[in-house]
Amino acid sequence: MSSCKNLEGSFTVESDSCKYTDDAILADYSYDTTIVEGNVIKPQQIKMQFKTDRKVGKTGVMLIGLGGNNGCIALLHWPSTCVAGAIANKLGLTWNTKEGTQKANYWGSLLLSSTVKLGNDRAGNSVYTPMSNMLPLLNPNDITWGGWDINGLNLGEAMKRSKVLDYDLQTKLYPYMKDIVPLPSIYFPDFIAANQGERADNVLTGTKQEQMEKIRQDIRDFKAKNELDQVILLWTANTERFSAVEEGVNDTAENMLHSIEMGEAEVSASTVFAVASILEGCTFINGSPQNTFVPGVIELARQKKVFIAGDDFKSGQTKMKSVMVDFLVSAGIKPVSIVSYNHLGNNDGKNLSAPSQFRSKEISKSNVVDDMVASNRILFEEDEHPDHIVVIKYCPYVADSKRAMDEYTSEIFMGGKNTIVMHNTCEDSLLATPLIYDLVILGELCQRVQVKKEGESEWESFHPVLSLLSYMLKAPLVPDGAPVVNALFAQRCAIVNFMRACLGLAPDNYMTLEHRFE
Ligand code: NAD
Repeated sequence: MSSCKNLEGSFTVESDSCKYTDDAILADYSYDTTIVEGNVIKPQQIKMQFKTDRKVGKTGVMLIGLGGNNGCIALLHWPSTCVAGAIANKLGLTWNTKEGTQKANYWGSLLLSSTVKLGNDRAGNSVYTPMSNMLPLLNPNDITWGGWDINGLNLGEAMKRSKVLDYDLQTKLYPYMKDIVPLPSIYFPDFIAANQGERADNVLTGTKQEQMEKIRQDIRDFKAKNELDQVILLWTANTERFSAVEEGVNDTAENMLHSIEMGEAEVSASTVFAVASILEGCTFINGSPQNTFVPGVIELARQKKVFIAGDDFKSGQTKMKSVMVDFLVSAGIKPVSIVSYNHLGNNDGKNLSAPSQFRSKEISKSNVVDDMVASNRILFEEDEHPDHIVVIKYCPYVADSKRAMDEYTSEIFMGGKNTIVMHNTCEDSLLATPLIYDLVILGELCQRVQVKKEGESEWESFHPVLSLLSYMLKAPLVPDGAPVVNALFAQRCAIVNFMRACLGLAPDNYMTLEHRFE
């Protein structure tokens, strides 16, 4: 009987399609797709070559919202060059809980804690390996962290305030966190809830243009001081209201830059950060739902060939939804009503208790089933959608332990009804923080991969809108005209098969034909 084996150590691919040089992994690949023209189906094969740079540069990550629940917890594994991995993972930190001793880990990170099937051994056993083993990846223990917050509390106190980590762990981490103070940030009160005003004691002043220049200088200083090869920015600050997209204001790159110069009111803080990041050549990732990436920012990213990715971490309820609805629709079951309630008591919940910030979240949570519904015209007519309601309430007592309750009602065989009810106690920030690592690690990998189609002479980088990061995001931003994929396992498959392609390996097709015939 065959079973699963795990390959822990590194491996090499032995094939004519995969060549290792000192600097790169070069892989020949045949991308097989299927073109549908009316009722005629045409298989298509595109020959291409992947090149993956093997050297991971020294990387810094600057978080916007560093003092928030996710921001300060991300530093749980904080190994800046100066503290040199003093905390948690690198030291193998342990702490006491009422259940016993707990050890630092990266659970919840797709790249650091999940495995992928490589193939079979000669005995027919499936062989898995950590996803992080597939290609040279950024190790989060080697990241230098920094960033901004409108609140000036040091990270030791911010960690206590967030009430996320066990007391004993907080005590052990405090000495390493207490001297880290976020850089002053951009605060435009109109974009986040009024109830955040009391936190805003660490803010920049000056015109929008001056504030953007200061952020650019911060990035350059951080890079120089820590001798970094590259810096990635990630927004994990409060959810902002949506910005109105207006002709002449933020619709083109040129107008966008001009609007910042003119101090145009409709330009949000997150957009100023995104523009600063792009102008500094740094990948920018948005972990919140608002439309930071107005058309002018996307155009600027394309012009400057800098990567952007968003929007909104897909951590608990939505992750579950993008599995559940995929399961229902692909099983031929018709979800007709999806009702989601949340109550949470952390600062994110407080900010979301204001109507326009809630609206940003509602929009990002609402479109997550669209692709699955549209894929099945047996169940759904054109433009037919399940009723889909999202409610979020602020309940201070539950703090970061967000409750998400979902009811899925579906129509089944012969007019029957099936109702699934789910209760999810999330531990919000402990689900979200590993996504920060994943977004950064995968974003960094995308910077090192290039592709060349057969017959072409130039290597090509990814499209600046990094849709490969969709797995971690509730409302994935995709290049113009590209389909949005929300289904979680399709998103995961894309990442795994992309990594296989970089090694010249065929996609995992789950056929296991070797076991299906005598
Ligand atoms: P939080 O409120 O604890 O932290 C946000 C931090 O951002 C605060 O410290 C605040 O002072 C700071 N801030 C606000 N505006 C700022 C600005 N302009 N510049 C710099 N800092 C600023 O929230 P959180 O729980 O850490 O969540 C962060 C974001 O991630 C929120 O937008 C939230 O909606 C989003 N998100 C979180 C989860 C999750 O935790 N499970 C899931 C999806 C999305």
